[in-house]
Amino acid sequence: MEIRFWGVRGSIAVSGARYARTGGNTTCVEVVHDGERLILDGGTGLRGLGEALGFAPVRATLLFSHLHWDHIQGVPFFTPAFHPDSDLTFAGIARETGCLRDALALQMRPPQFPVGLEMLRGARRFVDLPGMDVHEFGPFRVTPLEQHHPDGVVAYRVEAGGRALVFATDTEHGGAPDGRLIALTEGADLLVHDAQYTPDEYEGRAGPPRRGWGHSMWTEAVEVAVRAAASRVALFHHDPARDDDAVAVIEADARRRFAGAFAAREGLAVAL
Ligand SMILES: [Zn+2]
Ligand SMILES: [Zn+2]
Repeated sequence: MEIRFWGVRGSIAVSGARYARTGGNTTCVEVVHDGERLILDGGTGLRGLGEALGFAPVRATLLFSHLHWDHIQGVPFFTPAFHPDSDLTFAGIARETGCLRDALALQMRPPQFPVGLEMLRGARRFVDLPGMDVHEFGPFRVTPLEQHHPDGVVAYRVEAGGRALVFATDTEHGGAPDGRLIALTEGADLLVHDAQYTPDEYEGRAGPPRRGWGHSMWTEAVEVAVRAAASRVALFHHDPARDDDAVAVIEADARRRFAGAFAAREGLAVAL
């Protein structure tokens, strides 16, 4: 599997020289195997992926962890979705709050946005996945796991070609690492994990306490990886206030605990 980070930021996109090395776009991770494409989340990073693919027929599955705005705002700007010959499947876990298609249409409706979801002619199907069963998308075997986050979120283990990636964004452990997530991550080649806060931020020693806001400390991302015997962990969903220098400090601290830790950066590609 080839992994490429198109958006690594959490909560809201940022721009400016202070963020240039890490990247300012919100969450989007591309996974390619055997010419098939799975896209995890459609934050503003999805726009750059669309630009790279161009106005051309593209076959892909876009799988959403949840529908907070930093995970869907790139959808109206994903150029291949406008191509009538594209074959795009949009998928997420079924929620009582409504279907995936309606949720995506909400942000493409007056007065928020001038172009409606129906203009995305390459978006062939919208799938509300029932429950936490294992699902197959082309060569990708996907195992979902519900996590703790306001309005719900799902972590995914993605397996293809004998390799395993776990995508666990927007998750709060709340004190002790979630044993179910450790089990999901067991032996994975790469864990992409929420690392929004430092321990000082989470506990309220630096600004307001962030407990209950739905996110992890980077130390928890590392701990899940170590306890699951994952090969590597990408610190992901960087706080919008975290500039490049601060990301580098966290990355160095994380590496002292676990040599396989690194900060996810926009444009970074990882071969599993
Ligand atoms: Zn988020
Ligand atoms: Zn969220």
